[in-house]
Amino acid sequence: MIELKTLSQIASMRKAGQIVAETLALMREMVHPGVTTEELDRVAEDYIRKQGAVPAFKGYNGFPATLCTSVNEQVVHGLPGLRKLESGDIISIDCGAVIDGYFGDAAVTLPVGDIAPEVKQLLQVTEESLHQGITQAVRGHRLYDISYAVQSYVERYGFSVVRDYVGHGIGKAMHEEPQIPNFGKPDRGPRLDVGMVLAIEPMVNKGTFEVRTLNDHWTVVTKDGQASAHFEHTVAITANGPEILTRC
Ligand code: MG
Ligand code: MG
Repeated sequence: MIELKTLSQIASMRKAGQIVAETLALMREMVHPGVTTEELDRVAEDYIRKQGAVPAFKGYNGFPATLCTSVNEQVVHGLPGLRKLESGDIISIDCGAVIDGYFGDAAVTLPVGDIAPEVKQLLQVTEESLHQGITQAVRGHRLYDISYAVQSYVERYGFSVVRDYVGHGIGKAMHEEPQIPNFGKPDRGPRLDVGMVLAIEPMVNKGTFEVRTLNDHWTVVTKDGQASAHFEHTVAITANGPEILTRC
């Protein structure tokens, strides 16, 4: 069952979403050659706690950090550590926060210094595919209209969508029903309604869609070693259309 949130619940989620958005804005300022992913993580955790919120990922299934930091061929769930970012890298930063019992969840992929033109295009296409998906998040549409919008946009550019990880409903838990694949046929799946809150999150690979998990049991990488990008927003379906709760 997909839970419908009241306006006051959505207001709480807006608060959580804003903290996540502000944290990611801070990360955007910090990402440059020489910074370590651990430094990013520390600043993000401090910021979230100063707002009276709690990092949502820390301790989730034993995840050790506030951020998922996934560099280059890493798709999602990368662990912050001593790695220094270098010019030409890209870094996907996924962040969640919980306040007053409600969750916000968002991700961006940022360039480090100068990146190759085709990687820049990967970032642009992935971010735009998220917005193509969000446009479908309206009352009366069906869930896989979102999936189809993402996939068809991405594949137009010769990139591929990851199949093994999906978006999700969100609210009093980080992962609620429904699962939101980034691929699928339009006009299928549950009917969308006002009060649904969805974390829509295309993960897009430059090469094959296939992924594998490293021996650290967390970091997901592309099978072919090519770059991957990830953008995510928490989106409420309102009577006036989609509202991005994690907008910067
Ligand atoms: Mg996320
Ligand atoms: Mg998510």
